[in-house]
Amino acid sequence: GLTERLQNAMKTLRGKGKVSQSDLRATMREIRLALLEADVNFQVVRNFVKTVEERANGAKVLEGLNPSQQIVKIVDEELTKTMGEEAVPLNKSEKIPTIIMMSGLQGAGKTTTAGKLALKLKNEQNARPLLIADDIYRPAAIDQLETVGQQIDVPVFQLGTDVDPVEIAKRGLEKAKEDHNDYVIIDTAGRLQIDEKLMGELSNIKDAVHPDEILLVIDAMTGQNAVATAEGFNKTLDVTGVVLTKLDGDTRGGAALSIRAVTQKPIKFVGQGEKMSDLDVFYPDRMASRILGMGDMLSLIEKTQKEYDEKQAQELTDKIKENTFDFNDFVDQLNQIQKMGPLDEIMKMIPGMANNPQLKNAKMDPKDMDHLKAIVYSMTDQERTDPDVLNPSRRRRIARGSGCPVQEVNRMIKQFTQMKTMMNKVSKGNMSGMENMMNN
Ligand code: GDP
Ligand code: MG
Repeated sequence: GLTERLQNAMKTLRGKGKVSQSDLRATMREIRLALLEADVNFQVVRNFVKTVEERANGAKVLEGLNPSQQIVKIVDEELTKTMGEEAVPLNKSEKIPTIIMMSGLQGAGKTTTAGKLALKLKNEQNARPLLIADDIYRPAAIDQLETVGQQIDVPVFQLGTDVDPVEIAKRGLEKAKEDHNDYVIIDTAGRLQIDEKLMGELSNIKDAVHPDEILLVIDAMTGQNAVATAEGFNKTLDVTGVVLTKLDGDTRGGAALSIRAVTQKPIKFVGQGEKMSDLDVFYPDRMASRILGMGDMLSLIEKTQKEYDEKQAQELTDKIKENTFDFNDFVDQLNQIQKMGPLDEIMKMIPGMANNPQLKNAKMDPKDMDHLKAIVYSMTDQERTDPDVLNPSRRRRIARGSGCPVQEVNRMIKQFTQMKTMMNKVSKGNMSGMENMMNN
């Protein structure tokens, strides 16, 4: 994948006190290939590589301290820039309802995303959205939206399959005004390929209701086609934002890099699963870190926060920052994580875990978590809060107490220490997490 290739590309620089021009060129060649293989558009790749190279030369980083780390930093910053730098919020109209229109090819995830978005607005803004079923070409499409609506308890407006989509959109909007809905989300039809009829219909809907937001839904798994699709839709519809779906799959963001650069339209959300709660705000810096394989620590913290009450989450964040995160917190975290859902999905978000080959093949066994907990439970209070006291004889005692071999106890303590260091560095928002990656 892209992440592995980029890491390999930069590993050649790792630990070098001095980086020569030819080292830099070799690294840039690897980065270029890595991006191209990840289906990043070739022009985007060319500009990207050129900028990184210019900055590396211009700032005289090759002659400075830690040139390799500085290059990683430049790569990270340029990835972030390519994807738009800042998160861009959903447009909102001054008068209700705000009108959101979904667009995209068939199977991209429009209907699912319409539901996810309605749920998000409901949960986060106490909004009262109305979904409009405007895909009349397959009766199943209306049923699907109805099912989504029931699932999230959001009303669905539909007039069956015999009314013109423009008419449905207009009448749906009238209904929303009557009912004082503050958002309408129009779910439209897609086709397997862009064609004039589809585009004509979407244009007509746009002209009839003047959406505040036209979201283009793109399947991130479609690689190079994602860019062509985005360009095609954007040319006709002048979309206002992009939703990149299926980022929970194998893709590591190639499409995210191309789409923003090619369309100049912000990616506003990413879909990361089939559940209605699997829609997240798109943060370019986090995606850059994810592409570089640092794991998405901030998303993990955010996900944890949702499950926690705020106070606990704040305590955790403080502890990570102050580096006082101890084994008691570790067990709390394990318990929390066990509640949060599929373990391997969670583990992938932890820096250094994303590319862990063992993780790729092996599903994390819940029993392992129980071992980890047994080890901590066999520690004294002092050992839990001050891991430095864990000398060999204490470790042997803990091994006996927990029923785990002493090697496992040692491994666990080592992993804990590494994780703690990594979390602390990442939480300070500097490049240390990445520096670590380069140096270990
Ligand atoms: P539409 O034709 O554009 O309306 O696409 P749908 O909303 O019907 O989605 C097509 C398929 O993609 C469905 O099976 C969805 O469950 C699935 N899907 C949509 N978004 C995501 C996502 O973010 N992750 C995953 N894994 N599947 C998704
Ligand atoms: Mg649909």
